[in-house]
Amino acid sequence: MNEITITPLGTVSPYCKGNMNCPGFLVKINEEKILLDCGNGITRYLDLAKDLNNLTIIISHLHKDHYGELLSIAQSSYVYKRLGYLENKIKVYIPEYKKIIIENDCVIEKDLMEFNYLKELEKIGYLEIIPYNNKTKLSFNDTELTFSKNPHQIITYSTKLQTKGLKIVYSGDTGYYGNSLVNFAKDANLLICESTFLRGQTKSEDTHLFAYEAGLIAKKANVEKLLLTHFWPEMEKQYYINEAKDYFDNVEAAIEGKVLRLKR
Ligand SMILES: [Zn+2]
Ligand SMILES: [Zn+2]
Repeated sequence: MNEITITPLGTVSPYCKGNMNCPGFLVKINEEKILLDCGNGITRYLDLAKDLNNLTIIISHLHKDHYGELLSIAQSSYVYKRLGYLENKIKVYIPEYKKIIIENDCVIEKDLMEFNYLKELEKIGYLEIIPYNNKTKLSFNDTELTFSKNPHQIITYSTKLQTKGLKIVYSGDTGYYGNSLVNFAKDANLLICESTFLRGQTKSEDTHLFAYEAGLIAKKANVEKLLLTHFWPEMEKQYYINEAKDYFDNVEAAIEGKVLRLKR
């Protein structure tokens, strides 16, 4: 029997509240650990002495609510390396930025600044910052990670993790129209999907999902289970579940520390 655990470490955006952090999900497959996004506050739920080892971090995009805790990871990796707990450098994959592939000059300036800031963390911590794009394929042991580009304000990727007959997809931030998530998440065992808005709230542009749109994507993609995330800190999570249920029944809201287990 193979078991994968998925621990939500952060489920709200764009700021922390109480015991809720900005986005982060820790996926454990035997000794391997993959952290999907590294939002503010998530290290509060990590057991650093264990969890920093064999850790790979995937940052979906360079909005601060998705990478704000990387400085803590860098600084703790410095400490834990010197305490003798950390054997290998933590690998941190961040979206690649090249001037020639970005059309809007303002965006180039801003995002290159974020990218360069994150590269500097290599000087502080025991980690390696590695650019990736939608053609990147990562393999560790029996696990493969692939990426798909989302409609969002800046370059943003969904991540698909396939291992031992199980398929998990994490949406990152995404708009609905022109969204390739339905194909990318086809027949996944678990879709972890952003659901920023509730009915009655207005999207100024299509860069995030309504909870019902997350439900619709789960239905069209024929996934087994939908785990909602990326809530407003002030809203009850039950509202998001109710709206997603208009289209898809097997849905839960992610809760910090509440572990999900997938078995095969
Ligand atoms: Zn974003
Ligand atoms: Zn976000």
